[in-house]
Amino acid sequence: MTANILFAGRPDGWPAYEPLLKAELARLGVDADLRNDFAPEDVDYIVYAPSGPISDFTPFTRLKAVLSMWAGVEKIVPNKSLTVPLTRMVDTGLEQGMTEWVVGHTLRYHLGMDAHIHGQNGHWEPQAPPLARDRCVTVLGLGALGTASARALAALGFQVSGWSRSQKEINGVTCHAGADGLKAALAQADIVILLLPDTPATENTLNAETLAMLPKGAKIINPGRGPLIDDDALLAALGSGRIGHATLDVFRVEPLPPEHPYWAHPNVTVTPHIASETRESTAAEVIAENIRRNEAGEPLLHLVDRSLGY
Ligand code: NAP
Repeated sequence: MTANILFAGRPDGWPAYEPLLKAELARLGVDADLRNDFAPEDVDYIVYAPSGPISDFTPFTRLKAVLSMWAGVEKIVPNKSLTVPLTRMVDTGLEQGMTEWVVGHTLRYHLGMDAHIHGQNGHWEPQAPPLARDRCVTVLGLGALGTASARALAALGFQVSGWSRSQKEINGVTCHAGADGLKAALAQADIVILLLPDTPATENTLNAETLAMLPKGAKIINPGRGPLIDDDALLAALGSGRIGHATLDVFRVEPLPPEHPYWAHPNVTVTPHIASETRESTAAEVIAENIRRNEAGEPLLHLVDRSLGY
């Protein structure tokens, strides 16, 4: 039987996704009808983004699964009208983009690039940076994006540690897990990268207590989600010099309000949630493959555990 697929991402994404998804579904031999305007009771699958038109899933009475185009699912997980399986986006484009962004911002700190970019007022003060092997970098969250970033940093020679809920084994990365592991992961970190999901358990992972576990002057890079950091605690730690600098891509309120102290802070770099985005061509492959799997009775990839929130 033909699977009816409703595209419910941002309307301006439809022209790019329509041909790619149709081609990928055809390539995989999935008998499917893809549209952006089905009657709810006829829909089998929803290709979903929180920026799209759907917030109530109740009218979708024959729905089999919802496939999120976003990696972070904190906006849809609490939606009680969604009762079918939910998958999140894991794809090579997202991983590549995040790895490049994380490596770039880590190298900025590691090499001390700002001193030269902003000029040294005519002072010739040669001071070569240390080698990566003398720099400790910690990645909080060792999922798809954290693991890809940690691997790339380890390949550059950094001393990389990581932290996750369950214990991991990653070549070249010292892996810690659970509540006790956080202290060990932070203790040596010159640079901390947050790639955790936004869940009740990860809110304020960096707070006054955990910021105090870091070496003085540590740098923070947050491409994960805004609620992972207690903003007041970070501002206090930046003010005291306990934290040297923060590069923040994500915020509790986005766009970051113009009056927010992060904008003007001399030791904060704000980027507007651009660390990595879902790329249509690689995302279409994952979405089509998941629909093929479900239609064939095979397990869905990247299923969200809604009790954990990610
Ligand atoms: P993922 O594969 O689900 O990985 C999440 C990682 O966090 C896992 O290693 C998980 O541990 C760990 N974790 C979850 N709860 C934890 C807890 N309570 N304590 C310790 N570790 C915990 O997610 P992903 O694909 O790597 O993406 C990570 C996040 O990046 C997304 O949720 C999204 O918010 C963000 N993101 C941002 C952008 C951007 O442009 N800024 C783009 C894409 C994604 P286990 O491995 O043990 O499960």
